[in-house]
Amino acid sequence: MRRHFDYLVVGSGLAGLYSAYCAAQHGKVGLLTKSTLTESNSYFAQGGIAAVTDKDDIPQYHFEDTIIAGRGLCDAPAVRILVNEGPERIQDIIRAGMQFDVSESGELALGLEGGHHRRRILHAGGDATGRLVTQFVLNQVREHPNIEVFPNGTLVDLLVTDGRCDGVRCWNFDRDEEDVFTASHTILACGGSAAIYKRTTNPQSTTGDGVAIAWRAGCEIEDMEFIQFHPTAIVHPKGDSFLVSEAVRGEGAYLVNMHGERFMVGAHELAELAPRDVVAQHIDQQIRQEGTGYVYLSLQHLDPQKIRSRFPTIDAKCKELGIEMTDRIPIAPAAHYTVGGIRTGEYGQTNIPHLYVCGELASTGIMGANRLASNSLIECLVFGKRAIDYTLPGRPGFREQPVADYALTLSADAQKAGSYQAVRNEVATLLSDHAGLIRTEEGLQTALTELEAVQARCQAETVSSRDVYDEMSRNLCDTARLILTGALCRRESRGCHYRKDFPKEEASFRVHLIQQQGKPVQEIPVKKN
Ligand SMILES: Cc1cc2nc3c(=O)[nH]c(=O)nc-3n(C[C@H](O)[C@H](O)[C@H](O)COP(=O)(O)OP(=O)(O)OC[C@H]3O[C@@H](n4cnc5c(N)ncnc54)[C@H](O)[C@@H]3O)c2cc1C
Repeated sequence: MRRHFDYLVVGSGLAGLYSAYCAAQHGKVGLLTKSTLTESNSYFAQGGIAAVTDKDDIPQYHFEDTIIAGRGLCDAPAVRILVNEGPERIQDIIRAGMQFDVSESGELALGLEGGHHRRRILHAGGDATGRLVTQFVLNQVREHPNIEVFPNGTLVDLLVTDGRCDGVRCWNFDRDEEDVFTASHTILACGGSAAIYKRTTNPQSTTGDGVAIAWRAGCEIEDMEFIQFHPTAIVHPKGDSFLVSEAVRGEGAYLVNMHGERFMVGAHELAELAPRDVVAQHIDQQIRQEGTGYVYLSLQHLDPQKIRSRFPTIDAKCKELGIEMTDRIPIAPAAHYTVGGIRTGEYGQTNIPHLYVCGELASTGIMGANRLASNSLIECLVFGKRAIDYTLPGRPGFREQPVADYALTLSADAQKAGSYQAVRNEVATLLSDHAGLIRTEEGLQTALTELEAVQARCQAETVSSRDVYDEMSRNLCDTARLILTGALCRRESRGCHYRKDFPKEEASFRVHLIQQQGKPVQEIPVKKN
């Protein structure tokens, strides 16, 4: 099928849905997504959304907490945009009818999470914030006459002619046919890459397709070495890696080892509420020392009734697994969030005109070397809108040139689905073994060499026509290579990138690392003002 839209949005997480909704005020929108409309990280987000709403809090405090967590790599102008415009976007969705949890006095109930020095986390349905916010925006998208949705279609290529983006090529698994969607403006919001690892809190569709495809199209890819591991994901044979939100520690839960000792006290001034990288590394250290595979999140000292009503989703999951949430939950870190991604400007614009990126796929410079908890849902709203604003008449992104013509070129051999799965398992093992919480030069080199062998085998299997499963395998390999290369080049430890052989932060590495096809890795300075 071939279709043309004013705006084409890829991804139905909060970033894609919100930018589609904003775009629909100005033109016809096509919204493409890989799976169902509700399969996204956004839908599974629990803890909340960070924005200043309390009278005793100010954007400057939110700015400072974000900068501290980012360990010297945050681009200050982007953080300023987030903390200043976040409250406006929250007010927009509240005015449109979104209901966040309120206290008995009727004021917004604000949670506390790791790295925040103030209570500023809005939540909904207790710990169902992502589901409720995403569903709220999804309902608006579904009702909007200007938006047409295309589920079960995977992005395969960006259409680029004369250096401009003209839309996307994708494969629809329901109809088993290729779709070419041209558009004046293309917004990629395909999320992160954490499901490329073995143990992850993400849904299975989060495999980094967007970053690989954008890299092949010539985009600048930034800081891919920073993969955040969430400290507290459940360890259980049937519910592996289900996330226990940071907000549980915000309500007072302790991290204890097998002897019941709180190991975060004395390790950091914020103890269990230290930034994620610090907590995850200490948990990992305990697990290695004790050889247990997990430590405990202990809630024994907290009011069980309050805990159950504040965290109904986690409580229900624990019950399903036979774990008593108000006692002790076995947990370990799991790959959770992709800090780096496609480098964007302050409006989500990329180095390819008419291609915009927002949400977890973007590297706006906000997260630095380590994302502050609950800063990503708010980033989706702020930058989902800014990307559309940039395209309006009179703005730098406004487009007058028509798009080019594109032929259909793809096929899909269902028998290749098996080889795709095999590549996925191999890549997951390589990354989990060598590019997890603790990295070394030797391990990263080994992983790169083995990855090259996997990729060479995929290429040998590829026949003359372009097969969708081959393209999906190529995405896995390219994304893994971007992570490994970044991790090899960054010979220091900073935020969520830890090198055992270079355990200290180095002033000379206070730079972003940019990877672009056909060019050596470049270092560019952090924007300080
Ligand atoms: C369990 C969990 C809890 C979290 N809790 C919080 C929280 O409390 N607060 C917070 O701020 N953040 C939280 N996060 C992080 C946050 O949810 C994400 O960073 C954010 O939702 C990303 O939104 P997004 O729209 O960019 O991507 P996503 O929500 O991941 O959506 C990406 C979309 O792109 C689609 N897609 C992917 N590949 C393709 C392709 N090839 N073709 C077409 N479509 C594609 C996917 O199917 C999906 O629809 C949490 C994450 C997880 C996993």
